Amino acid sequence: MKKIKVKNPIVELDGDEMARVMWKWIKEELIFPYLDIPIKYFDLGIQNRDATSDMVTLEAAKAIKEYKVGVKCATITPDQERVKEYNLKKAWKSPNATIRAYLDGTVFRKPIIVKNIPPYVKTWKRPIIIGRHAYGDIYNAFEYRVEEPIEVEIVLRSGSEVKNFKVHSFDGKGVFMLLHNTEKSIRSFARSCINYALSEKVDLWFSAKDTISKIYHGYFKEIFQEEVERRKDDFEKAGINYRYFLIDDAVAQILKSEGGMLWACMNYEGDVMSDMIAAGFGSLGLMTSVLVSPEGEYEFEAAHGTVRRHYYEYLKGNKTSTNPTASIFAWTGGIRKRGELDDTPEVVNFADKLEEATIKTIESGIMTKDLQPLADPPVDRYYYTEDFIRAIKERLESLLKN
Ligand code: NAD
Repeated sequence: MKKIKVKNPIVELDGDEMARVMWKWIKEELIFPYLDIPIKYFDLGIQNRDATSDMVTLEAAKAIKEYKVGVKCATITPDQERVKEYNLKKAWKSPNATIRAYLDGTVFRKPIIVKNIPPYVKTWKRPIIIGRHAYGDIYNAFEYRVEEPIEVEIVLRSGSEVKNFKVHSFDGKGVFMLLHNTEKSIRSFARSCINYALSEKVDLWFSAKDTISKIYHGYFKEIFQEEVERRKDDFEKAGINYRYFLIDDAVAQILKSEGGMLWACMNYEGDVMSDMIAAGFGSLGLMTSVLVSPEGEYEFEAAHGTVRRHYYEYLKGNKTSTNPTASIFAWTGGIRKRGELDDTPEVVNFADKLEEATIKTIESGIMTKDLQPLADPPVDRYYYTEDFIRAIKERLESLLKN
């Protein structure tokens, strides 16, 4: 079969443990035999991050900025246990945090829908994508535990000008917290959400509680509205809508909906709701994640980690049934985006076909162990990772011939 030419580079970020093993199989079996891609490769495996004092992560982030599209394998975020296990110089920062900070991006989680792995929530038919703001609010708050009667005041100082506001008079024990956010961060968040909604051609929802928090939550609502106005023509062209909801209304609407929207949430709500949505859809092995910057740079990955326990089995020479679906979709997400940016429909078509082959394989009853208990109709056996990938490859070849 003649390989399809990909015009511009995709930045590849390699990772750790079982995720890295699967990543290699995916490339060898499902990607490189069919696509001629100029890859910019960065090894983010923990040993190489350690050897380069983590400079490789920053270089990879710069490359994503330059080439606009990256695909990332899951990586270890080391804690003290990992420092010992891998004999590291130190507990390096989470690569995802480094890349997210460099690109000023927002992470969106998107479930993969497969007919015979039904979501717990029966009405959900299409993906519900969650966009979580990742700066400020309770995550960068000042908190104080009050042990005796005190007056709390806030002092605002700008040069020589000073303003005082009374917050609360405590007549006994209590607690208080001071939150903040910045226009720049909220605007970047809104822009990333708009870029992603346009790219996925799904409606954009934003929810907050501006009836109660007229200024703080109201500020988010106002900025979203302004940013959407600026892209009004693009929304029209893509045939998608923007809707603002009160958060309590949004929660009720989401449960009753069929899905098919990007739900932008403030930091805390996004933290809580993304786990609710992930649980509602069923499996970590079917959850993808994409980092989108306000400038329109994209990094695709699986939402799960390195699947450590399976790796130790693999090292003992045992076969594992690790689900590669989300990692395959990280590649197809990157390939499709590359094709869209380069205006090469044959590349986009390959991504579509590989996704179709993967979904149809699961729907035919061939699946990994994590999905077996969720399958409806039930299946009587599960497949090892390599056999599952081989089954996808067979289907892909026949789809590519048609
Ligand atoms: P994990 O996601 O690797 O595993 C959590 C649980 O889900 C395990 O029981 C695992 O067996 C199961 N699971 C996850 N993905 C699976 C798959 N594809 N197929 C079958 N089962 C799957 O998370 P963890 O064990 O908490 O973390 C392991 C390592 O991954 C840690 O070092 C952590 O730092 C890293 N991590 C990385 C990322 C990332 O790079 N985006 C995300 C989360 C965790």
